[in-house]
Amino acid sequence: MANEVLVLQPHEIEKVKAHYLKYKVERSAPGVVFAAKLVDTAVTVYKSGKVMFQGNGAAREASLWGTTSKSVEKVNSGTTKGDTLPPNFTSLSVVGSDETGTGDYFGPITVAACFVRADQIELIKELGVKDSKMLTDEVMRKMATDLMATLTHSVLVLKNEKYNTIQGRGWSQGKIKALMHNQALKHVLSKMAPEKPAHILIDQFAERGIYYNHIKAEKEIIRENVLFSTKAEQLHVSVAAASIIARYAFLKEMDRLSELANTTIPKGASAKVDEIAASIYLKHGEAFLKSITKWHFANTQKAMKLANKRKF
Ligand code: MG
Repeated sequence: MANEVLVLQPHEIEKVKAHYLKYKVERSAPGVVFAAKLVDTAVTVYKSGKVMFQGNGAAREASLWGTTSKSVEKVNSGTTKGDTLPPNFTSLSVVGSDETGTGDYFGPITVAACFVRADQIELIKELGVKDSKMLTDEVMRKMATDLMATLTHSVLVLKNEKYNTIQGRGWSQGKIKALMHNQALKHVLSKMAPEKPAHILIDQFAERGIYYNHIKAEKEIIRENVLFSTKAEQLHVSVAAASIIARYAFLKEMDRLSELANTTIPKGASAKVDEIAASIYLKHGEAFLKSITKWHFANTQKAMKLANKRKF
């Protein structure tokens, strides 16, 4: 479906509303201040000043009011690495995927994929979705539940015991992530079938060739319309939403582990993490510590040293 988005000044918005007044319809979606339905075009005005035109007459109606923004091309020059995205990529129906937890000593790796259809993009933005690096964990916890209720998604949690087993078999984090992304994408595509996204965008952690080499033994490999880019959460709201859902799943598992360990388990892999790991080791033993950490991280040796010092 054709889709055009303009950002207009308040006085222009007033003109738009007056112009489409006789086609006005009631819409109670969050952030919507005015909506109209023409024979071939739906017009939606958002609190943010964005005006969306959808349908076969979208380009015609939008051209009455200005030129549409093509921010993707701007964002994707210089600041990101990866595939060149098609024009108007931000306004297409896309499945995005992202992971979190890879650098944290405690807790799982989580991967999420989700589908944002073109006509959901404005709503998802109105829910506050943006680059997850600009959002706090507490904000993301709240947002994620709305997103999961709204979007077709899949979220995978690789718990520490399984992580340690496969890592011990020699699997790299790259391979583990590639398998999880492929799995999450497979789930989303089968949930949304027969509908298909215009594209799939993976937040790039490995070059395309390396990614597909990691998953070459899989029965089902998702290849059709797959694009890779770094900083992909800035390029399509589906990746930003996936990143928030992955973060939510990570935080939930950290809550569970904190309860098990009877202490608040810290994120990251800093010296503070070594201290807490040493305390957990002394209180609950090695097997327990292993069951809640990425055991091969250097933090393990540092925590052991600290624990041995404290014993004497
Ligand atoms: Mg990422």
